[in-house]
Amino acid sequence: MTGPSFASLGLSPQLAQACQAAGYAVPSAIQAQAIPPLLHGRDLLGLAPTGSGKTAAFALPLLQRLAAGPQHPSRRVRVLVLVPTRELAAQVGEVFRSLGAACARPPKVAVLFGGVSVNPQMMGLRGGADVVVATPGRLLDLLERNALRLDAVDSLVLDEADRLLDLGFAAERERVLAALPPRRQTLLFSASFPPAVQALADDLLHDAVRIQAEPAARDRPAIVQRVIAVDAPRRTELLRHLVQQDGWSSVLVFVATRHAAQQVARKLHDRGIYAAPLHGDMSQSQRTGMLGHFKEGGFDVLVTTDLAARGIDIPGLQVVVNYDLPRSPDDYVHRIGRTGRAGASGVAVSFVSAATEAHFRLIEKRQNLSLPREQVAGFEPVEAPPEPPARTDGGTGGVKGKRPSRKDKLRAAAAAAKAAERGAS
Ligand code: AMP
Repeated sequence: MTGPSFASLGLSPQLAQACQAAGYAVPSAIQAQAIPPLLHGRDLLGLAPTGSGKTAAFALPLLQRLAAGPQHPSRRVRVLVLVPTRELAAQVGEVFRSLGAACARPPKVAVLFGGVSVNPQMMGLRGGADVVVATPGRLLDLLERNALRLDAVDSLVLDEADRLLDLGFAAERERVLAALPPRRQTLLFSASFPPAVQALADDLLHDAVRIQAEPAARDRPAIVQRVIAVDAPRRTELLRHLVQQDGWSSVLVFVATRHAAQQVARKLHDRGIYAAPLHGDMSQSQRTGMLGHFKEGGFDVLVTTDLAARGIDIPGLQVVVNYDLPRSPDDYVHRIGRTGRAGASGVAVSFVSAATEAHFRLIEKRQNLSLPREQVAGFEPVEAPPEPPARTDGGTGGVKGKRPSRKDKLRAAAAAAKAAERGAS
């Protein structure tokens, strides 16, 4: 049995051809469901898993409606896409540009985000734009400078709506909405639907089509999830061992802080691994350059914070490593969703120590998972779980000297490594 073709969903021959050129053989599940109602101007609420082909699911029909609409000599913003991060803005803008190039009058796409000088973006808006992809803060900044108007917007997309809310976007939302015409098509995509997103949906959408894309087997991320028990101080060494032993050549490593991203990348680099950091202390041009270089295979390991957890598409990413565990179970799903995209298989490895075991169990419980704990020869953990907080009832809970000190643990870890080495040789 064959599924629908792009043309049979109602797309123009030019856009159907653009899909072939982009390497999309057949529509993904979410594309098959979303494109026909969006072409008819319906509102849409999409629960779209990462890597499902969500961007093209809204870009294709909106491009077609744009091409069919009135053509003003001076361009007016007709499509506005709000996204939570700069990287996602650049990525979504690129999808509009490359698919839109197939249209008889390719749309002008402006990508607006903070962290870089505002002037080139202002210059880019001269003569108008048809599609604007923006993060909320910079969009408001440019609206205040009268660099663009949004009173001709036909279609509004809120991408990763749950994340837009996280970022305190609610306060800025009203200001953006006030600049939009009240009659318009509105699309809201979210990977999860907390009550705040539901309230936003109730507020903004009219008679919306609801799509909960259950991806077809070919689109479903095939992610093998592994959990390795290791003492916290030995994680970098273990990471290096795994990269070298398993020949990993495209690895995204998540750590908790910008400082850790810098440190871990440097240590790996010093030990002969092509590794680099990506974090919020770097300038936007460094961030863009780093990500671009990694996507092109310029180095093997990118060490990052949750900055890169959402939406970012890295074709062919083999492995995601949770060096530090994510704080929330939702972030676990977003992080591991960076791999196994568009039907490819991927591996997600989480490092768990005695101190973080309980937290990982919580993530498993919330995600309905139960994963075996592995140990890697030479890296067997020796750390004891942390003691419960000191009791005040005279118990021996917090007695000093009972727990091994950090030095003791390191010594024990080194002894275990030696023993394993002896065992292996
Ligand atoms: P997204 O969920 O929009 O981030 O897309 C994830 C990846 O899927 C991107 O690399 C797209 O280029 C790719 N993609 C989108 N639609 C299709 C399709 N119909 N067939 C194959 N790959 C696709």
